[in-house]
Amino acid sequence: MITGLVQIRRLGEHKRGENERFRRHLKTYRYVERRLRQIAEEIEAQVDCLACANCCRVATARLLPRDVERLARHFRLSVEKFKREFTEESEEEGLILRRDPVRGCVFLSGNECSVYDVRPAACVDFPHLVRGSGSIPSRMWQFIDRACYCPIVYNTLEAWKEETGFSPAPR
Ligand code: SF4
Ligand code: SF4
Repeated sequence: MITGLVQIRRLGEHKRGENERFRRHLKTYRYVERRLRQIAEEIEAQVDCLACANCCRVATARLLPRDVERLARHFRLSVEKFKREFTEESEEEGLILRRDPVRGCVFLSGNECSVYDVRPAACVDFPHLVRGSGSIPSRMWQFIDRACYCPIVYNTLEAWKEETGFSPAPR
């Protein structure tokens, strides 16, 4: 299991082409979705997210209206005031939690989430391997980027390749 973030970044970038081929492979291979999720679950259980927190630094946290309402209530703020203080608009994703390009999410404190119990659904489900709607192949495009910064995703893709008999060499 590889968990070093520098190594994950290097390997994830190096394997972008291979992971794109794996994405196509999954579309044709007859796999059991439950088995792939089970593999992801086993890997998730072995990785200590508190020692990592990389997603909170690197990725954006998309907000649903119910996330905003819950967080605003938590801070005893009106929805409008919460949005002004803690959110921003992203062209691609809509409303997201405010973030600093270096420190990451506004609610990240050290390696811990300061709003853990009321964090957005997107954070609860992250990295969307075990918990996530839609079939695994339909979400594979997200995993290629995430394999460059999330040890759970990187190691899961490698385990899925083995499980499905994927050959890394281009044909
Ligand atoms: S809300 Fe918490 S879990 Fe979500 S990105 Fe921010 S620090 Fe991470
Ligand atoms: S979900 Fe991935 S990137 Fe986020 S803390 Fe856990 S291992 Fe790190």
